[in-house]
Amino acid sequence: MSSLLLNASHNLCFKLSSSGCQWQPLLHNNTHRLSFSRVGAEKQGPIAALVSAEQLVWPSPSDEIPFWKRDFPSWDADSDVPSDVVKDSDPMHVIHVTAEMAPIAKVGGLGDVVTGLARACLSRGHTVDVMLPFYECIQRQQVVDLELVSTYNSYLEGEWIPVNAYRGVVTGIPVILIEPSNQFFKGKQVYGGCYNELEAYLFFSRACLEWMQVTGIQPDIIHVHEWQTGALPLLYWDMYHHLSLKKPRIVLTIHNMEHYGECRQEQISKCGLDGSAYATVEKAVDDRTIGHNPERLSLLKGGIVYSNAVVTVSPTYLKETLCSGWLAGTLIKSRDKYFGILNGIDTTMWNPATDVFLPAQFNAHNIEGKKLCKQYVQRGLGLISEASGSGNQMPDAAPEVPLVICITRLVPQKGLHLITHAIKRIEELGGQMIILGKASDARVESEFKHLADLHNQGPSIRILLLYSEELSHMLYAAADMVLVPSIYEPCGLSQMLGMRYGAVPIVRKTGGLADTVFDVDEQSNHHEMTNGFVFEGIDEGSFNWALDRAFTYHREKPEEWTGIVRRVMECDNTWNNTAGKYIEVYNSVRVA
Ligand code: ADP
Repeated sequence: MSSLLLNASHNLCFKLSSSGCQWQPLLHNNTHRLSFSRVGAEKQGPIAALVSAEQLVWPSPSDEIPFWKRDFPSWDADSDVPSDVVKDSDPMHVIHVTAEMAPIAKVGGLGDVVTGLARACLSRGHTVDVMLPFYECIQRQQVVDLELVSTYNSYLEGEWIPVNAYRGVVTGIPVILIEPSNQFFKGKQVYGGCYNELEAYLFFSRACLEWMQVTGIQPDIIHVHEWQTGALPLLYWDMYHHLSLKKPRIVLTIHNMEHYGECRQEQISKCGLDGSAYATVEKAVDDRTIGHNPERLSLLKGGIVYSNAVVTVSPTYLKETLCSGWLAGTLIKSRDKYFGILNGIDTTMWNPATDVFLPAQFNAHNIEGKKLCKQYVQRGLGLISEASGSGNQMPDAAPEVPLVICITRLVPQKGLHLITHAIKRIEELGGQMIILGKASDARVESEFKHLADLHNQGPSIRILLLYSEELSHMLYAAADMVLVPSIYEPCGLSQMLGMRYGAVPIVRKTGGLADTVFDVDEQSNHHEMTNGFVFEGIDEGSFNWALDRAFTYHREKPEEWTGIVRRVMECDNTWNNTAGKYIEVYNSVRVA
């Protein structure tokens, strides 16, 4: 397969061809042990091109075009299935119905997970499609072989609204883009357009089933994600299954229990179901509103009740959700069909040996390129005050200064008070810190803007309030440490991506962070599995304890630090390691 797509932020070309060397198959079928698996360096693949300092065009903060917006070489990614991937014996057809997909409509980890899991299942021989809204902000050139495949009507408030369905391919993955003819999904961003988001996703959920009905396409599995598509299982079992769709079974993944899809009965009725029929404890009533007038419904709860299987994104988050939160009762009742499967990372998009966004590539055997990435980023952001290099000369950098990064949505869940505290503490310790984050809340935005104004001219801290996929790749590659101080974290991709790029994680022990990061100083941990610095409390003292230890290792125990970096790079947190668990879940519910 050969394809071209344009990068979301500024029209960069990625070329997918059968001759590339991007794909890194690491299938162990279902025999893996989470967190103990290692990627041998030979499996990480050779470094695509070795670059020396003299060959680099060094950036500067005064560049007219910031270094992360430069043109990048085309990205040869082999979308053909590699020869050593273990094929599953009984292939099935899975359709994901989702609000996000990386890289064309990514806001956070949901987009990464859909793309990575879809690719892993494709490589195991399954047929996979991803259905998502055709957001106005998706650039058509980003989708290879985009074509209108059907125009049909879907129901909304007593009317039938015309809908276009397009097919195309995104980084090797078949997509079906659903474009309603009304105002839904119009706007500059994935979320937050000038339309009722809940009603738009209710419409989208029905429009996906309607498309399957009009085309006669019946997958084995419809895989829905988050509250946005939580109504689809209700629509399926109470409507479309009584019409022509008989074969599909529904799997729901809960990526984050922060949003429940709270809605009124009338809103459900707008998509053609009788909203009042779901206002019971057994179905979709929001238990917190019982006795209120009116009571509310929750699309996420309805999705849990009506799906054949429910997955959340790490074993520890599964336990946490069974113990706390108002949905715990519903999940306990659903215990037999509720699974915790750790997310993976998509090695086609995230491989430091071939990543086109990096000024220099590297792998676990040869991390010279990582040092160049660090110097490149430091220089591009003006972090090295005494830099004496000019032109193409290597700057007089201070690579021994620990560089900490934090790449995150700036929301309370992510431990905002610890992130702001980290700025102060890292400065005190003589380190450097770069925050790449985007806030959706105006108050948080202004707080971080104030911090940026305070620090961004100084020598050691940079706060960049923007979203940039390219810059995120460069920062993971440049970093010595990646910070994830979340109050809660269902899985967390940032620590896994950081590890793959040789950044040692400093994390709070919660959710998926507890399942992927094992403290270097914890005696009960097997030495070979230790890979980071972990703290438990949400107070500054607990955080300092982990950060200070990381700095001490970095500065005073260089050999041990090098060992930790090697171990983090060899951790197998790829989908190849965990996709098999999803296949098991699919197989447990599919119709034979
Ligand atoms: P969540 O899904 O809660 O946002 P995860 O850690 O699971 O958190 O996934 C976050 C994903 O979004 C990662 O791929 C991370 O690199 C990316 N990301 C977050 N903020 C930004 C940003 N400002 N710019 C680029 N990428 C970002």
